[in-house]
Amino acid sequence: MDLGLTGKTALVCASSKGLGRACAMALASEGVTVTLLARGAEALLATAEAIAAATGVQVTTVVCDITTAQGRAAALAACPAPDILVTNAGGPPPGDFRDWQREDWIAALDANMLTPIELIKATVDGMQARGFGRIVNITSAAVKAPIDVLGLSNGARSGLCGFVAGLARKTVAHNVTINNLLPGPFDTDRLRTTAAAAAKASGKSVDEVLDARRRSNPAGRFGDPAEFGAACAFLCSQHAGFITGQNWLLDGGSFPGTF
Ligand code: NAD
Repeated sequence: MDLGLTGKTALVCASSKGLGRACAMALASEGVTVTLLARGAEALLATAEAIAAATGVQVTTVVCDITTAQGRAAALAACPAPDILVTNAGGPPPGDFRDWQREDWIAALDANMLTPIELIKATVDGMQARGFGRIVNITSAAVKAPIDVLGLSNGARSGLCGFVAGLARKTVAHNVTINNLLPGPFDTDRLRTTAAAAAKASGKSVDEVLDARRRSNPAGRFGDPAEFGAACAFLCSQHAGFITGQNWLLDGGSFPGTF
């Protein structure tokens, strides 16, 4: 299927590794000119080189923290009028809500709710004026199936989904869609870091924790980030203009509900 994206531009946030990287690779493979960003220069440049070599498209990089106003300004200066916006940032730390202070909540809201909203605010009117736009927010399966120790993530990301649900119905008439991708367990650095923490807490080896997690998923495995990137590319395609305000769960069937 030709996704009809050749020559489009995309700003893909938090994209030196993991799910953001996979989205950037999938979009670049469809001929999209991509701007990547991350806080660390080394991994970002390596990813940019890999994507450019694999796809032949132009890749721009911005070293920045997207959760800060300066970081967003730098990203938007490099890619001021993207056709496609993929929002993403690191997830908040686990913990017990009794230990979280107001500052912890503000940090989580800044990273996982207000940063995507600021980026949408900065780009959506231009998309509407040009008659094409695709916004994809990388959130978490925890939006549908909350994880108790990830209360900061459950709360901040659900707030983003609520906001998107309203706006996405306003923009679609201009061929601008806004959707959320909800990852379950995908094989990324983040998943391995959380497995290492669980192993330490339980006295098991990291491999034992990973094996148990794989077996507990109906698919019997973790998701491949490339599968996530492909879903993102389809949502961004010319064929997906009638899909908006949706929360797509990519979790190997782990969520047990019918809907
Ligand atoms: P990852 O650790 O593999 O990659 C994260 C990327 O984000 C890196 O490129 C990192 O440099 C960049 N980054 C992090 N914070 C940033 C910031 N403030 N500014 C700029 N760049 C930043 O993580 P991942 O697995 O790809 O996860 C992406 C998102 O999806 C996270 O919010 C994570 O919580 C969420 N998520 C992941 C999974 C999973 O199984 N991998 C499951 C549920 C939710």
